[in-house]
Amino acid sequence: MSKLLLPRFVSPRKLAQQGACIEGVVPVSSMQHMEDLVVDQTEEINVNLKFMIDGGYVTVTGKLFGTVLMECQRCMDTTSVDISANISLACLHADQQVKSLPPQFEPLMVTDEKVDLYALAEEELLLSLPIVAYHNNDKCNANEYSKPVMVTIDDLRKDKNANEQTQEKENPFSVLTHLKLNP
Ligand SMILES: [Zn+2]
Repeated sequence: MSKLLLPRFVSPRKLAQQGACIEGVVPVSSMQHMEDLVVDQTEEINVNLKFMIDGGYVTVTGKLFGTVLMECQRCMDTTSVDISANISLACLHADQQVKSLPPQFEPLMVTDEKVDLYALAEEELLLSLPIVAYHNNDKCNANEYSKPVMVTIDDLRKDKNANEQTQEKENPFSVLTHLKLNP
Protein backbone atom coordinates (compact mmCIF):
# COMPACT_ATOMS: atom_id res chain seq x y z
CA MET A 1 0.00 0.00 0.00
CA SER A 2 1.49 3.30 -1.00
CA LYS A 3 1.42 6.04 1.58
CA LEU A 4 -0.22 9.43 1.26
CA LEU A 5 1.81 12.29 -0.10
CA LEU A 6 2.46 15.08 2.34
CA PRO A 7 0.64 18.23 1.22
CA ARG A 8 3.22 20.57 -0.22
CA PHE A 9 1.94 24.06 0.61
CA VAL A 10 0.18 24.64 3.91
CA SER A 11 -0.73 27.54 6.12
CA PRO A 12 0.99 26.89 9.47
CA ARG A 13 -1.21 29.44 11.23
CA LYS A 14 -4.44 27.78 10.11
CA LEU A 15 -3.17 24.32 11.01
CA ALA A 16 -1.91 25.57 14.37
CA GLN A 17 -5.29 27.07 15.19
CA GLN A 18 -6.77 23.60 14.61
CA GLY A 19 -3.92 21.91 16.52
CA ALA A 20 -3.54 19.74 13.43
CA CYS A 21 -1.18 16.83 12.90
CA ILE A 22 -0.30 15.88 9.37
CA GLU A 23 1.74 13.00 8.06
CA GLY A 24 2.73 11.69 4.70
CA VAL A 25 5.65 10.97 2.45
CA VAL A 26 7.80 13.28 0.38
CA PRO A 27 9.33 11.70 -2.75
CA VAL A 28 13.07 12.22 -2.97
CA SER A 29 12.56 13.10 -6.65
CA SER A 30 10.78 16.28 -5.60
CA MET A 31 13.71 17.46 -3.50
CA GLN A 32 16.13 19.32 -5.69
CA HIS A 33 19.33 18.78 -3.73
CA MET A 34 18.56 15.35 -2.33
CA GLU A 35 18.15 14.07 -5.86
CA ASP A 36 21.84 14.66 -6.57
CA LEU A 37 22.99 12.94 -3.40
CA VAL A 38 21.07 9.71 -3.48
CA VAL A 39 21.28 6.86 -5.97
CA ASP A 40 17.61 5.88 -6.11
CA GLN A 41 15.18 8.75 -6.67
CA THR A 42 12.11 6.57 -6.09
CA GLU A 43 12.72 6.60 -2.34
CA GLU A 44 10.28 8.39 -0.06
CA ILE A 45 10.81 10.20 3.22
CA ASN A 46 8.20 9.90 5.97
CA VAL A 47 7.22 13.15 7.62
CA ASN A 48 5.08 13.63 10.74
CA LEU A 49 4.30 17.17 11.81
CA LYS A 50 2.28 18.78 14.58
CA PHE A 51 1.16 22.41 14.38
CA MET A 52 0.47 24.34 17.57
CA ILE A 53 0.34 27.78 19.04
CA ASP A 54 2.93 27.89 21.81
CA GLY A 55 3.80 31.04 23.74
CA GLY A 56 2.32 33.21 21.02
CA TYR A 57 4.31 31.46 18.26
CA VAL A 58 3.03 29.17 15.58
CA THR A 59 5.20 26.09 16.05
CA VAL A 60 5.90 23.09 13.84
CA THR A 61 7.31 20.05 15.61
CA GLY A 62 7.74 16.45 14.55
CA LYS A 63 10.16 14.18 12.80
CA LEU A 64 11.15 12.80 9.47
CA PHE A 65 12.73 9.46 8.73
CA GLY A 66 13.51 7.13 5.90
CA THR A 67 16.15 5.09 4.14
CA VAL A 68 18.01 6.25 1.07
CA LEU A 69 20.63 4.64 -1.13
CA MET A 70 23.93 6.47 -1.39
CA GLU A 71 27.23 5.64 -3.04
CA CYS A 72 29.80 4.17 -0.69
CA GLN A 73 32.90 6.35 -1.06
CA ARG A 74 35.20 3.40 -0.37
CA CYS A 75 33.96 0.80 -2.87
CA MET A 76 31.59 2.99 -5.02
CA ASP A 77 28.81 0.43 -4.58
CA THR A 78 25.45 1.50 -3.14
CA THR A 79 24.79 1.46 0.57
CA SER A 80 21.54 2.17 2.39
CA VAL A 81 21.62 5.01 4.85
CA ASP A 82 18.98 5.43 7.56
CA ILE A 83 18.16 9.04 8.11
CA SER A 84 16.05 10.72 10.74
CA ALA A 85 15.70 14.23 12.02
CA ASN A 86 13.65 15.97 14.66
CA ILE A 87 11.89 19.14 13.69
CA SER A 88 11.30 21.96 16.14
CA LEU A 89 10.45 25.20 14.39
CA ALA A 90 8.66 28.41 15.27
CA CYS A 91 7.32 30.67 12.56
CA LEU A 92 8.82 34.12 12.44
CA HIS A 93 7.74 37.02 10.30
CA ALA A 94 10.20 39.48 8.91
CA ASP A 95 9.56 42.00 11.67
CA GLN A 96 10.18 39.51 14.48
CA GLN A 97 13.52 38.96 16.17
CA VAL A 98 15.17 35.53 16.07
CA LYS A 99 16.62 36.02 19.54
CA SER A 100 13.14 36.38 21.06
CA LEU A 101 12.45 32.71 20.25
CA PRO A 102 12.42 30.10 23.02
CA PRO A 103 15.73 28.18 22.73
CA GLN A 104 14.17 24.84 21.77
CA PHE A 105 12.93 26.27 18.45
CA GLU A 106 14.72 27.04 15.24
CA PRO A 107 13.28 29.98 13.31
CA LEU A 108 11.13 29.29 10.27
CA MET A 109 10.93 32.51 8.30
CA VAL A 110 7.46 32.99 6.85
CA THR A 111 7.03 35.63 4.18
CA ASP A 112 3.42 34.92 3.32
CA GLU A 113 0.95 32.57 4.92
CA LYS A 114 2.04 29.54 2.92
CA VAL A 115 5.01 27.33 3.71
CA ASP A 116 6.57 24.80 1.33
CA LEU A 117 6.78 21.64 3.45
CA TYR A 118 8.87 19.82 0.84
CA ALA A 119 11.53 22.52 0.98
CA LEU A 120 11.33 22.45 4.76
CA ALA A 121 11.73 18.66 4.85
CA GLU A 122 14.65 18.81 2.44
CA GLU A 123 16.46 21.42 4.48
CA GLU A 124 16.15 19.31 7.62
CA LEU A 125 17.21 16.18 5.75
CA LEU A 126 20.29 17.75 4.24
CA LEU A 127 21.43 18.63 7.75
CA SER A 128 21.05 15.04 8.92
CA LEU A 129 22.53 13.36 5.86
CA PRO A 130 26.13 12.14 6.12
CA ILE A 131 28.52 14.20 3.98
CA VAL A 132 30.04 11.00 2.68
CA ALA A 133 28.47 7.58 2.98
CA TYR A 134 30.29 4.34 3.73
CA HIS A 135 29.21 0.76 4.17
CA ASN A 136 29.55 -0.71 7.61
CA ASN A 137 33.03 -2.22 7.71
CA ASP A 138 31.93 -5.85 7.40
CA LYS A 139 29.63 -5.11 4.45
CA CYS A 140 31.98 -2.98 2.38
CA ASN A 141 33.27 -4.52 -0.83
CA ALA A 142 36.54 -2.65 -0.40
CA ASN A 143 36.99 -4.26 2.99
CA GLU A 144 39.76 -6.68 2.00
CA TYR A 145 41.87 -3.81 0.74
CA SER A 146 41.31 -1.48 3.64
CA LYS A 147 41.82 -3.97 6.47
CA PRO A 148 45.22 -3.44 8.08
CA VAL A 149 47.46 -6.53 7.97
CA MET A 150 49.31 -7.43 11.16
CA VAL A 151 52.94 -8.18 10.46
CA THR A 152 55.27 -9.43 13.19
CA ILE A 153 59.07 -9.22 13.27
CA ASP A 154 59.11 -12.98 12.95
CA ASP A 155 57.13 -12.76 9.70
CA LEU A 156 59.64 -10.27 8.35
CA ARG A 157 62.57 -12.57 9.19
CA LYS A 158 60.88 -15.53 7.50
CA ASP A 159 60.20 -13.33 4.50
CA LYS A 160 63.81 -12.23 4.27
CA ASN A 161 65.07 -15.83 4.41
CA ALA A 162 62.56 -16.90 1.78
CA ASN A 163 63.67 -14.06 -0.49
CA GLU A 164 67.33 -14.99 -0.17
CA GLN A 165 66.59 -18.62 -0.97
CA THR A 166 64.60 -17.80 -4.11
CA GLN A 167 67.32 -15.42 -5.25
CA GLU A 168 69.92 -18.20 -4.99
CA LYS A 169 67.74 -20.62 -6.91
CA GLU A 170 66.93 -18.16 -9.66
CA ASN A 171 70.38 -16.64 -10.07
CA PRO A 172 71.16 -17.17 -13.79
CA PHE A 173 74.91 -16.92 -13.11
CA SER A 174 74.91 -20.03 -10.98
CA VAL A 175 74.43 -21.99 -14.21
CA LEU A 176 77.48 -20.25 -15.76
CA THR A 177 79.56 -21.02 -12.68
CA HIS A 178 78.55 -24.60 -13.06
CA LEU A 179 79.64 -24.71 -16.72
CA LYS A 180 83.02 -23.16 -15.98
CA LEU A 181 83.72 -25.72 -13.32
CA ASN A 182 82.98 -28.56 -15.70
CA PRO A 183 84.45 -27.75 -19.10
ZN1 LIG B 1 31.65 0.05 0.45
